[in-house]
Amino acid sequence: MNLAQRTELYRRLAAVNPNPRSDLEYSNDFELLVAVVLSAQATDVSVNKATAKLWPVANTPQAILDLGEARLRDAIKTIGLYQTKARNVIKLCEQLLALHGGVVPNDRAALEALPGVGSKTASVVLNVAFGVPTIAVDTHIFRVANRTGLAPEKTADKVAARLEKVTPKEYLLNAHHWLILHGRYLCKARTPECWRCSIVEFCKYKPKTPAAADEAARPLNGKPVVKRRKAAKKAAPRTAARNKAKAL
Ligand code: SF4
Repeated sequence: MNLAQRTELYRRLAAVNPNPRSDLEYSNDFELLVAVVLSAQATDVSVNKATAKLWPVANTPQAILDLGEARLRDAIKTIGLYQTKARNVIKLCEQLLALHGGVVPNDRAALEALPGVGSKTASVVLNVAFGVPTIAVDTHIFRVANRTGLAPEKTADKVAARLEKVTPKEYLLNAHHWLILHGRYLCKARTPECWRCSIVEFCKYKPKTPAAADEAARPLNGKPVVKRRKAAKKAAPRTAARNKAKAL
């Protein structure tokens, strides 16, 4: 994909969603950091459900420590890997207070030194909280980058490095959100919704999903179109016989 095509691809994603933001609910840098830690291998929906109750009770490192590991574990028990995550968040809060005055650091090395924070989490926090133009690659971005041909690579790290290289500078800050939202809501893993995709002309994925596939799958009056057609065929002889009887 050449520069002009990449630029147009991002221009279209931007036109669809001019102010993209994470699906995670947070209102400060600390909440963002903890929410991203909790979202590893879990859905944003499950994290939001738990944090909706947690934030009003504890949304600072000290408040989380006051809450204690057992109550934190209980508060996030609907999230996958909650036991490990609760342990990590407690240690993370201790380190934030001991080394950073309770403030989330604007520094990759310092972030990655926190328990439960890997390079992906650090990238998201740097990008969202501090406006650093970096791209964290999750399963959705990995899929979109490979399907479209924007950054076809075999590992998430390689996709991230390539995306940061090929994404036009003016789109780098929001590229993470545009690609993730595109993958989550449109370029879905099982059935990408190509028929309504704004970047279909640039995408190398074959075969593209046609609109008819969606129509067949979408229940109408409770029955998928395919079933309705079969039902109509079966009913046809009876209808014809009824019409004949009426005519007699
Ligand atoms: S055309 Fe289809 S496969 Fe390509 S990006 Fe759009 S939804 Fe994904």
